[in-house]
Amino acid sequence: MENTHINMSSQKRIAIFGSTGSIGTQALEVIAANPTLFSAEVLTAQSNDALLISQALQFNPNVVVIGDEKKYLTVKEALAKTDIKVFAGEQALVEVAALDCYDMMLAAIVGYAGLKPTLKAISCGKPIALANKETLVVAGDIVMQMAMEKRVPIIPVDSEHSAIFQCLVGEGRNKIERIILTASGGPFLGKKPNFLVNVKRDHALQHPNWSMGAKISVDSATLMNKGLEMIEAKWLFNLQPSQIEVVIHPQSIIHSMVQFDDGSIKAQMGLPDMKLPIQYALAFPQRIENDFPRYDFRKPNTLTFDEPDTKTFRNLALAIEALHKGGNLPCVLNAANEIAVYAFLRNRIGFLDMTEVVEQTIQKMPFIEKPTLEDYFESDGEARSFAASLIHL
Ligand code: NAD
Ligand code: MG
Repeated sequence: MENTHINMSSQKRIAIFGSTGSIGTQALEVIAANPTLFSAEVLTAQSNDALLISQALQFNPNVVVIGDEKKYLTVKEALAKTDIKVFAGEQALVEVAALDCYDMMLAAIVGYAGLKPTLKAISCGKPIALANKETLVVAGDIVMQMAMEKRVPIIPVDSEHSAIFQCLVGEGRNKIERIILTASGGPFLGKKPNFLVNVKRDHALQHPNWSMGAKISVDSATLMNKGLEMIEAKWLFNLQPSQIEVVIHPQSIIHSMVQFDDGSIKAQMGLPDMKLPIQYALAFPQRIENDFPRYDFRKPNTLTFDEPDTKTFRNLALAIEALHKGGNLPCVLNAANEIAVYAFLRNRIGFLDMTEVVEQTIQKMPFIEKPTLEDYFESDGEARSFAASLIHL
């Protein structure tokens, strides 16, 4: 692939990896609302060719990638009258990540599939707006090390981490005592196993405060999402596991908090809307004016806080174990969870079975204390195969 495109304008040229997803489409709304600040130069999708085509026709990017190679011709033909380059397949995602035609990658692919393109972008010195938390869960040490060596900023998009990032602006070297990640508790807050055993896909996908992709919605319902976020926070903010706490805050108004070593706590607040952390990450260090609805303190409202129920939502306990043990355990946990969620979304296993799959897989896989990148790839593959064998996928 050639690297010929030269940026003549002051727009920041964004590559959206995963443009057809929940984060990707909201990012395109932000870009459309701020055409002087941003352009979309790379769009990628796994299988939704129709949406990718319509996005390409609207935003006129330099390149699009469709993951599913069977859909290459459809996309190519639909864009034949444009000068948009079309590529297909997993390898193309990694190659496109290395192109010069963009300034910042929005990593918005879901799951482990986001790791390799993001690593490639970092190795090429591209700043990352990171939505894909699994990248840090799987290989956080290697990703952050490479980002440090290449002096590449990783700006979080995940709302909790964006909140912490925002609280840390201006704090320089001030010491963090702990961070407090808030969790809505998901659609089954307060429920017990006798209820959860019968939960089905559609119910689990109904999140009370956020509208998100299917995988993260299920992770929010099992609280695995919060466990993945604890691991994500460890790497992003260079914390010890003991410095990371989770509190249930069902209203999702405080997006997370930082407590400094003088005991002072900073919180970042606002109505739940992912466009806010997305636009913050894309425009950082600038803030962009918008007309999104504002939180109104004058209306009667109550903000509540409670402890998470890790006895019922055991996925969170398993993720905390992986956070503390480190090594390849978070990678194995993530792989098993991706298989379990995939099976649950297809009604192949029940809600509580997801935890069984994850638990049995992390017990079975060999522990590697200091994995190389290759070790992570292998651990991911082996954990997936084992988890799939448990549910006869
Ligand atoms: P989604 O399922 O809505 O979209 C996923 C995107 O990734 C789609 O564009 C899809 O085509 C692409 N994709 C899926 N599988 C792929 C594969 N194997 N190879 C290449 N591309 C693939 O997901 P989402 O909710 O937008 O979440 C994206 C990421 O952002 C996740 O890691 C999630 O945890 C994180 N995140 C999402 C939200 C949210 O509100 N949706 C909030 C915080 C963090
Ligand atoms: Mg989050």
